[in-house]
Amino acid sequence: MNLHEYQSKKIFSDYGIQVPRGQVAETPEEAVAAAEALGGTLWVVKAQVHAGGRGKAGGVKLAKTLDEVRDYAAGMLGQQLVTPQTDAEGLPIEKVYIESGSNIDRELYLSMVVNRDARKVAFIVSADGGMDIEEVAEKTPERITTVNIAPEVGLAEYQIRDMAYGLELTKPQMKAFAKVARALYQMFIDIDASQVEINPLITTGEGEIVALDAKINIEEHALYRQSAIAELRDPS
Ligand code: ADP
Ligand code: MG
Repeated sequence: MNLHEYQSKKIFSDYGIQVPRGQVAETPEEAVAAAEALGGTLWVVKAQVHAGGRGKAGGVKLAKTLDEVRDYAAGMLGQQLVTPQTDAEGLPIEKVYIESGSNIDRELYLSMVVNRDARKVAFIVSADGGMDIEEVAEKTPERITTVNIAPEVGLAEYQIRDMAYGLELTKPQMKAFAKVARALYQMFIDIDASQVEINPLITTGEGEIVALDAKINIEEHALYRQSAIAELRDPS
């Protein structure tokens, strides 16, 4: 089961992984109220559907005024979004996520998958973020770094360095990235995820590492188990 971007980002944030501030909206009025509450002068209106490739399909729009926020939200809500990752009918847009616009320096790629047979989690990273990773894998496989984590050892320092090298990070960015990688690994194990994709993970003009997009996939059995645990902890 895939979580929506805003749900995935909430989990990231709980683990101390930086994400842009944002609010969900179901009407154009809520979208404007969300933008006002966020403040600033640049917002991003993002269709919440279970498919990537929204940007090129009109499902991610940069707004410079509150009127643009309203117009973009009105243009998306209630419509079907057709992206290269959906069928011809597309997916209904029931919610939009209103985010503060980030000051993007570079767009990177990071994903995590689990190899069930080897019972190992792997990180896959590339300095070529924001693009179709399948295309990168096909045309320039040397631009992709894969790190397999032995569960009994966990994420090792040298593995973080290998990834940071593949991502072409500077020293200070490397430090920020190490925190992100450790947090992601802990999160992945805790929530029993089957896949995580951050495309793009960005470096900002302020020297931070921020998850600009977020996709978490959790096996349904893991979700049931977690809600059962939550209920045991907090019976209502
Ligand atoms: P998708 O992968 O579905 O196209 P993304 O969330 O990756 O959607 O957004 C597409 C592009 O839009 C990103 O690569 C980035 O360039 C831009 N973008 C997305 N969110 C923001 C944001 N908060 N601030 C600035 N730019 C953004
Ligand atoms: Mg993306």
